[in-house]
Amino acid sequence: MRELSVYFCQKCGYYAYFQLPRNAVCHRCHVKLTPLDIRYQDFMNLDYEERDRLISLKIIEMTPTLVQRICEPAKLYDQRELVGRLTQEISRLTEENQKLNQTVDWMHKTIWEQLRQTRELESRLKKMENA
Ligand SMILES: [Zn+2]
Repeated sequence: MRELSVYFCQKCGYYAYFQLPRNAVCHRCHVKLTPLDIRYQDFMNLDYEERDRLISLKIIEMTPTLVQRICEPAKLYDQRELVGRLTQEISRLTEENQKLNQTVDWMHKTIWEQLRQTRELESRLKKMENA
């Protein structure tokens, strides 16, 4: 029998064990899972917290731009500082998202206003044609 391997999801952190790589798919995100470079038995010997930490680190490692932006300048290994910076990054992204939504709202309003004006012009034209 083929040995089980440990796989994890880069998106949501879900992990599971499979014999065949083709079966390794995240049932939540429907993306291919990534093999974890640790033997199944070694992984089983870790407690839940150690497994969490290992997979969290892998996910962070596999997001090179995020890691470079957030961790590289300070050569960051302090988890509290990492959490702090990630929280800042999240609020920055939330703010950016809000601005984008406002822009979309504004564009919608502008489009509706233009549509209204076009209709008005059309009805004026019709009245002129009928006159
Ligand atoms: Zn997933």
